[in-house]
This record gives sequence, structure tokens and C-alpha cells, in this order.
Amino acid sequence: MGFRAKIGLEVHAQLLTDSKMFCGCSTRFGETANSQCCPVCSGTPGTLPVANRKAIEYVIKTGLALGCQVAERCRFARKNYFYPDMPKNYQISQYEEPLTFGGQIEVEAEDETARIGIRRVHLEEDTGKNFHLPDGTSLVEYNRAGVPLMEIVTEPDFASAEQVRAYLTKLREILRYLGVSSGNMEEGAMRCEPTVNLVDAETGARTEKVEIKNLASIRGVYEAVRYEIRRQLKAVEDGETVRQETRRWSEEKGETQVMRTKESAEDYMYFPDPDLVPMAPSREWVEAIRATLPELPAARRERFVREYELPAYDAEVLTSTKAAAEYFEELVALTGDAKQASNWLMGPVTSELNARSLGIEDCPLPPAAVAELMGLVAEGRITGKIARDVFPRMFESGKSAAEIVAAEGLAVVGGEDELGPILEEAIAANPKAVDDYRAGKEKAKGALVGAVMKATKGQADPATVNRLIEERLRPQG
Ligand code: ZN
Ligand code: MN
Repeated sequence: MGFRAKIGLEVHAQLLTDSKMFCGCSTRFGETANSQCCPVCSGTPGTLPVANRKAIEYVIKTGLALGCQVAERCRFARKNYFYPDMPKNYQISQYEEPLTFGGQIEVEAEDETARIGIRRVHLEEDTGKNFHLPDGTSLVEYNRAGVPLMEIVTEPDFASAEQVRAYLTKLREILRYLGVSSGNMEEGAMRCEPTVNLVDAETGARTEKVEIKNLASIRGVYEAVRYEIRRQLKAVEDGETVRQETRRWSEEKGETQVMRTKESAEDYMYFPDPDLVPMAPSREWVEAIRATLPELPAARRERFVREYELPAYDAEVLTSTKAAAEYFEELVALTGDAKQASNWLMGPVTSELNARSLGIEDCPLPPAAVAELMGLVAEGRITGKIARDVFPRMFESGKSAAEIVAAEGLAVVGGEDELGPILEEAIAANPKAVDDYRAGKEKAKGALVGAVMKATKGQADPATVNRLIEERLRPQG
């Protein structure tokens, strides 16, 4: 049978606003439990919500970046269900009238480009959080209740776990470039729920949709989707029925497990929230937001290859965060050497940052400091090897490249006056290499160059040393 996987994805991303969706409470992560709530977000009867303009702007911005249309008029809806972490007993969300809809994104996986439809990007509020203790006590924490949440729903256009993974990586990059969400899955700021079923393109036969919850990383999503496709394929082969249900992903067991049978939208009794006025974003406002869209990662990647003639791999790494791309462009502006700037950034700068678990945005050395070091190499004042030794010390001490080079006498030993005696010693100490070289064995020169480099502690310019040896041992004419 020709069953193929059909996967859709819902992503919930917390928005980086200072205050909550419908009240003025702070959204800061990691504060004392229940210290950031008020009568509105704790569901006290008689309070009235007021929508956060910044959150609306962020959803519009995201929608535009994903090629969506922005509704001329739309409303909030109540999604009714009872759960202790949701004090109002309903979540304010959007149902029939999402703020933005009808977008599209391209993802590359396994050498293929897939077009993934974006069904909608809408706005809602987050719930609180329940903690179940081993002694049977349950605690409820409301700091998260009412934090603005954006829901990004795709069409069921993914055909593989690899495409899902590529999409999530790309989406998270975009959200971070836009500055609308931290995308930090480990803090719960981005949460994903895939639905998976199988369809036989020829017969139209299909399995029921299964939704997977409890995914805390992109890797987790990837593994859960892969597992679920295999589980359903096996069920079909064995002549079993795949039931419509919600399953959870068990990281430890590496499998999905039944959580509950799926509720349908009717169970939520959605209706327009009578406490909130409809939203009608003016076209001027939408265009003003569009004008603030930054160059997105894919476009920047393409430009880096075109404008700086970088290999695709370099462009990919350097544009993976906005901060890295900006650091790189500053470094190029200062040095005029894109490939060297890329090498420095992807090599020494990244390894020093990684060793300290720092991101490029926390780099203690500004691009100008790295540019100065690159300049010393370009001017022939220090060798590339010395530069690589100096760099970690700049990072450590915050001193400039020139200071370290001057203080430690690391400048190139270059003049013929300086190199002459060292060269003579090397020649005297390596008679065999000298004879071999004179006899035409080009490789024998390496031993002599090596001896000079060693005597100068790597501070001689190898090209100059090579030239001087040639001149001395093989005089022209
Ligand atoms: Zn509040
Ligand atoms: Mn939702």
C-alpha cells in the first residue's frame, strides 16, 4: 500500500511583551510563584480585560513575515473548559476570525523544498501551570496565566519528520529575528503540537488524526513524529484501526502513549467574548508594521552568498541569529575581507564563546577589536599563527591586539638584518638538508624553514623565510 504521512503543526509562542495580554501584570519569567497576578488574570468576577496593543502588533508582524493576510476585522472568542490552571474557566482565544491567515513558508529537508501553508496566526492568552507533588499535593501557579500567546497553525502539508524539524528551526529563527518571541523551548516559550495521520493517495484511505502533546524540544518533536508515523504504518499493516486520540510523548521510553480520546471543537462551546471589542487594524497601521520587518534569515543568507561571495555553509551559520549576522557585517565593514571575517567569526570567536557558554550578543570583544587583530595580520605585522595565539588572550584580558603584541614582543621578525643570522645558524645546523636542497630536492627546504620558524617562535613570516633561503642557497645566474 502507498500510505504517506500527512502532518500538521500547531505552535504556541509566548510573545515578548512586558505586560500580559489583558492586564498590566509583568510577564517576567522565573519570578516568585503567584507574585505577578491581579484580579483580571486571576479571573475575579466583574473585572474587564483590555487587549495589549503590542501583542496585536507582534502577531501582525509575524503573520506578515509568514506571508499572511491581516484581517480587516476580527474578534476574540472564549474557549470554554474547566481546568485549575485557568481561573476564568475559559481561555480568551480566537476561533472563526483569526487576526492573520493564509500564509506560506518554504522549508528545505533531504534535498527537497516543501511549501507549507500557514493556515492562521492568531492571538490568545496562556494558562497558568499546575505542579503535582509526590505526596499528592497539587500547586497552581498563575504568573503565566494571561501571558500573550501566539498560535501558528500550518496546513497538514508536511510529509516527513525531517520537514517538521526544518520548519521549526526556521520558524524559531524568524520569531527571534522579528524579536517577537524568545523561542526558548526549555522555558516553555515555544510549544509544539503535531497531528499525524496517514493517507493513501490512490485509494483515499486514511487513518484518524492523532495529536501529540508534551514536546519540549525540536528534537522531541522530530522523534515523536517519526515514532508516530511508524506506529500508524505498523497498525495499518497489521489490519488494526488507528483511533482518533491525543497522545503524549515519553522522552524516556521513546514512544507516544495514549492520553485521552480527542475532544472536538464543539466541546469547547466557543463564542465571541462579549467583554472585548472587535479588533479592526487599520491598513495604515498594518503597512507601518510591514515597514518595520527586518531582512529575514533566508533573504540575508542569499545576500551573504551574493554580496560577500561566501560559501553557502558560512552564510547559513552566520545568519542563524540576527546578532551573529550583524557582528559579521560590522567586521566586514571594518576589514573589507569577508572570507577572513567569516573564518574568524566561525573559528576563534565562536570557540571562545562556546567555551564560556556565551552567545555572540554577549561577546566581550566588539567587532573593532577583532578587526584590529585582523589588520595586524593583513599588514604583515604579525603572523596568522601569532594572531590565533593572541586572540584568546584578548578575550581573557580585554586588552587590545596591539597592546598584547607590543608587550610580549610578538611582532614579525622580518627584516633581513634580523633574519640573516638566524638563517645562517639554520643552514649551519642542517648540512644534509642544504645538500639535498642544492641537489634539487625541493622538500628539503621545509626542514630549513622549520628551523627558522622554531628559532623565531613562529614570529617570522614564512613567505619571507622561503624567499631568503632560495636566494641564499640557489643564487640566480
Ligand atoms: Zn494581571
Ligand atoms: Mn491555542
